[in-house]
Amino acid sequence: MKTSKNFLFAAVGLSLTNGIPVTAQNNIQDRKPNVIYVFPDQFRNHAMGFWGEKGFKEHVRFKPDPVITPNLNNFARESVVLTSAMSNCPLSSPHRGMLLSGMYPDGSGVPLNCNSDRPISSLREDIECIGDVFKKNGYNCAYIGKLHVDFPTPNNPEAPGTYVNNDTPVWDAYTPKERRHGFDYWYSYGTFDIHKQPHYWDTDGKRHEIREWSPKHEADKAIEYLKNTGNVRDTSKPFFMVVSMNPPHSPYRTIEDVMEEDYNLYKDIPLDKLLVRPNANPQMEKAQCAPFYFASVTGVDREFGRILKALKDLRLEENTIVVFSSDHGETMCSQNTDDPKNSPYAESMNVPFMIRFPGKVTPRIDSELLLSSPDIMPTILGLCGLEKQIPAAVEGRNYAGRFTGKDSSVPLRQGALYIKNIDGEKDAEGKVISYFPVARGIKTHQYTLSLTIDRKTKTLKEALLFDDLKDPYQMHNLPLQENHEIVSELCRQMVPLLKEADDPWYKEQILKELIPYEG
Ligand code: CA
Repeated sequence: MKTSKNFLFAAVGLSLTNGIPVTAQNNIQDRKPNVIYVFPDQFRNHAMGFWGEKGFKEHVRFKPDPVITPNLNNFARESVVLTSAMSNCPLSSPHRGMLLSGMYPDGSGVPLNCNSDRPISSLREDIECIGDVFKKNGYNCAYIGKLHVDFPTPNNPEAPGTYVNNDTPVWDAYTPKERRHGFDYWYSYGTFDIHKQPHYWDTDGKRHEIREWSPKHEADKAIEYLKNTGNVRDTSKPFFMVVSMNPPHSPYRTIEDVMEEDYNLYKDIPLDKLLVRPNANPQMEKAQCAPFYFASVTGVDREFGRILKALKDLRLEENTIVVFSSDHGETMCSQNTDDPKNSPYAESMNVPFMIRFPGKVTPRIDSELLLSSPDIMPTILGLCGLEKQIPAAVEGRNYAGRFTGKDSSVPLRQGALYIKNIDGEKDAEGKVISYFPVARGIKTHQYTLSLTIDRKTKTLKEALLFDDLKDPYQMHNLPLQENHEIVSELCRQMVPLLKEADDPWYKEQILKELIPYEG
């Protein structure tokens, strides 16, 4: 067959390499890569099986969760895998704001989880986000799944003047076209947690009520986009597709939250065998969630695998960058807290981060890079050769050269900033009109430090200090006074991070007796 094809092409003045006409190959080489960014919610770095395997386990100080993740395990072998990607403000909306804008929460406009009581927390319309940059540079951009960066307003497309639901406050939101930041294909919602009854608004604002597990449905939509079912994209252009899956996300309590086939893998395992971290308490009521959490992880793994298979079958694999990450982790009975996130603990801050780019990114494990959420946007743009298009306002760093191995001149930070905000003042109607920066801290390769201040006096109220090398499960909170040299070094390292983030702690010089703002 090949001979006859060669003959055929020779007859029209073309030659074949690897079965593709040379002129077409030149086009492929000139063409910008596609990007698929898949990020489930509340998926901690520890919940990937490969961390227990040879070649990986030597790079981390934890025992992975007993999860079944065959697709992620294979993907890791084809990717650059970070051990220490950090979600700086490990909460849904703030991370998503940083991911899309490349800016810390003060710049993105999203310091708090978005709901209708918090008009001060909403992705700014006047900034250039990652989709805007891709769109401007000739990409088709698709957003599928959970967005959760918009302040809900009464803009229900089916009933103008009303909210999309009747909760108080309203959490879910509809994002109209003018707020989509370059995404020209839309199949998304704000936030909603009935995992087998999800809904989405499409590009034209039509609402779709679905009766199946949301990651499965979202993978189906992603595969349709790849296949260009319904002619939804211009195949002469590269694409940037975000797939934001909600599970693993609470509730994980019943078979209504997960796929039964996944639950069956974990249901008979005793809780103390599922919760393998020595800092976890299987006596907590929440421990009942563990089999459902891990079932969600396995389900997400399968749906991610289906997207990868479609990419391969469609022969789009070679020129497509695929990233797998999460918005933040899940404590899941570690540290005796019911709060899955919004804390400086490793289970909450440390997220998966893997990039596959065949032929451009050599698979390896990078345990030096403490990636911060605002670095993701400039790094992805950099990998697509759009480094000159990174908006000047971006605060994150472009580590593309580090991933490709071509340029390691972008300096590594000594740590990742930890950020926790709470509601500040409220107006007469109960709407939040400011936020309070209640805790800041730093995660370095050796230490985790978090400083919480009193709301009235802004003096130190509480501190956490862990030696993550000696105590990887963070079971011994070290007293500040006895470790004042370590604390003062960590506080010194926080200054450039607070400055880079244009953070209120830097502007107000909060805890200046501890943090040497003026050098
Ligand atoms: Ca989240």
